[in-house]
Amino acid sequence: APSPLLRRALLAAARSPRLRRTITGVPVTRRVVDRFVAGETEPQAIAVTRSVLDSGRSVTIDYLGEDTTDVADANATVSHYLALLSALAPFTEDGTGAGTIEVSLKLSALGQRLARDGEAIALDNAHKICAAADEAGVLVTVDAEDHTTTDSTLSIVRALREDFPSLGTVLQAYLRRTEADCKELSGPGSRIRLCKGAYQEPASVAYQRKPEIDTAYVRCLRILMSGQGYPMVASHDPAMIAAALHLADATGRRADEFELQMLYGIRDAEQLRLAGERRRVRVYLPYGDEWYGYFMRRLAERPANLAFFLRSLVSR
Ligand code: FAD
Repeated sequence: APSPLLRRALLAAARSPRLRRTITGVPVTRRVVDRFVAGETEPQAIAVTRSVLDSGRSVTIDYLGEDTTDVADANATVSHYLALLSALAPFTEDGTGAGTIEVSLKLSALGQRLARDGEAIALDNAHKICAAADEAGVLVTVDAEDHTTTDSTLSIVRALREDFPSLGTVLQAYLRRTEADCKELSGPGSRIRLCKGAYQEPASVAYQRKPEIDTAYVRCLRILMSGQGYPMVASHDPAMIAAALHLADATGRRADEFELQMLYGIRDAEQLRLAGERRRVRVYLPYGDEWYGYFMRRLAERPANLAFFLRSLVSR
């Protein structure tokens, strides 16, 4: 893992508009970004979707964007999702694609942080997307962002689930509150994507050290696997994946009663190997031109990702 100092610097950089302008302006960045992002346009994302589906994995597609500061941007994000969903409808038309295609949403991209009525606007926007997804036979899961948004996000998800009971939500094992959230949200029909968490958080709300985060992750997994919902295990960590497979076995879950999820471009060979073992594997597939924050969080996770980026800058 990267040093805490480096990780903190990269996560701060992820939120800096000045660095965003500098880094996105470097032409060679594109090549490195392409490793983690499935293109800037919808046709590119659809092409990658097709090849991932052909390889026996399912997908969750994310139109990149976060921290929207005006209503027009939030509306533009909704339009993008609606266009994406119509482009995805043919994949599910014959019924064979049911459950294999999902979209992931960030409520902050839908207006959640707007000073005036942000929460109501995000709820309304997410509702439109959920309705279109329902129509297209596509699932939806709501991403988890920094801890200041967790209460708001879970209350919006609760409201949406009254109309769209299959709506999934992400919980972050590094937050101290998450074990309690897992207990509360592991009821019948729930779909919970458990990840470790990718933001810079204070020690008052989040575990800081990897061993602590890992044991918290396994505690949460145990709750979800023995619960009545559908656990979605989002991690590249071999230890977490082994724990998930073990707990699934121990709680008598069949292969179709939980799934493993990884990010596009990360441990691709392992994703294929697991899919080859008839495990359900879903790939989180981000696309769009607002890739900066997402890309910087990936660099913060792993020195090898950062080294790859820096090498390509100097070997130009
Ligand atoms: P880490 O502790 O980062 O890595 C552990 C081990 O995994 C490494 O030691 C290595 O063995 C292996 N590994 C990791 N990366 C690589 C690599 N590139 N190549 C080879 N081996 C590798 N975070 C949020 O905060 N909110 C979200 O909504 C959210 N959604 C997510 C959805 C999905 C499907 C996934 C997979 C992640 C999501 N994340 C989200 C990110 C997540 O919180 C972590 O930041 C990220 O997944 C890294 O944690 P990890 O569990 O993979 O383990």
